[in-house]
Amino acid sequence: EDERRKYVKGKKLGEGTYANVYLGHARHDPSILVAIKKIKVQKEYRDGLAPDAVRELKHLQELHHPNIISLLSVFSTKGQNINLVLEYLPLGDLEMLIRDTDRVRYGAPDIKAWMGMLARAVWFCHDNFVLHRDIKPNNLLIAADGEIKLADFGLARSFADPYARMTTNVITRWYRPPELLYGARHYSGAVDIWSVGLVFAELIIRSPYLPGNSEIDQISLICRQIGTPTEENWPGVTSLPGYTTTGESVPVWGKEAYMTRFGAVGADGVDLLVRTLALDPRKRITARGMLEHRWWRVEPRPTRKEDLPRKS
Ligand code: ADP
Repeated sequence: EDERRKYVKGKKLGEGTYANVYLGHARHDPSILVAIKKIKVQKEYRDGLAPDAVRELKHLQELHHPNIISLLSVFSTKGQNINLVLEYLPLGDLEMLIRDTDRVRYGAPDIKAWMGMLARAVWFCHDNFVLHRDIKPNNLLIAADGEIKLADFGLARSFADPYARMTTNVITRWYRPPELLYGARHYSGAVDIWSVGLVFAELIIRSPYLPGNSEIDQISLICRQIGTPTEENWPGVTSLPGYTTTGESVPVWGKEAYMTRFGAVGADGVDLLVRTLALDPRKRITARGMLEHRWWRVEPRPTRKEDLPRKS
C-alpha cells in the first residue's frame, strides 16, 4: 500500500487549472522518469473522501494501450490530496503542433496517422467501459516515438471540481456535445466521439472549429455550423432538461458543405468527419465504426509514427 514511497518527487514542471505537475523518478531506478500530478482537491472531497477517489481512479491503472498515457500509480497524501504518477511525456501535445503554423507543416497523411491513434485509444477506452470525457488537442500528448497518448481523463479532473460530477459540465466547452449542452443526464461514449470529431476538424483547419465563448454561444455555433437539432433529426431532443432554441432553424449541412472547408482529407475523410458530428448521439458513429470506415483504406497511407512532425 505504500505507493508514495515508490517514487521520488522532483522539481515542478508546470501548473494546470486543477493540478500541479512535478518531475519524479522511481526510487529503485532513477532512470525511470515520471510526471507526478498532484490534484488540487476541493474541500467537498477532503476529510477522508480522497481514499474513495483513489479507489475510483485505480481502475484506470489497468488500461494499457500504446495510445493511452500509462497511469503507474495513484495515492493520496495527508488523506486529502490525490497524486497521479504518470508516464513522463516532455514533447508537448497536439495543440502545440496545431497552433505553431509558422514552423510546423503537416498534411493529410499526418492527420490520418494522428486520427488513427486517437480512434484506437477511444475504442479501447469504450471497449473497457471507460469514458474519457475531456478529449481535446491539449490532452493528446506526444511520445518520443511519435505515438500520441490520450491523457487527463475527466474522471480525475472531476475530483478537483466536484460540481462537474453532479452536472453535465464535464467536457471543455468547445468540444462539448449538444446532448451535454442540453443537460442530458444519461450519456454514452458518443460524448467522446463528438470531441474526436472536433479534434479532427481542428487538425484540418488549424483553429478550433466551434470556439463558443459561453454555453449559449456554443449551442448557437453548433446550430449555425452543423445544423439546428429538431424532433425530426433528433427524436426526443426537445424534452431534454436544458433544451433551448436559438432563433431561426438551420438545416443540417450535408457533406458537400463540409468539402469546401475540410476537403483536404478527401471525400472519405469528410464522410467520417460528418458522421462524428451527428447531432443525435444515437446516430453518431461509434469508435468501432470509425475504425471500420473506408477512409483508412484509401490513399494516402497514414504517415509512419517515426516520420510525424514534432516540436522543433
Ligand atoms: P494543462 O492541462 O493546463 O496543460 P496539466 O495539469 O495537464 O495542465 O499540466 C501542466 C503542465 O505540466 C503541462 O503544461 C506540461 O508542461 C506538464 N505535464 C503534464 N503532464 C505531463 C507528463 N505526463 N509528462 C511531462 N510533462 C507533463
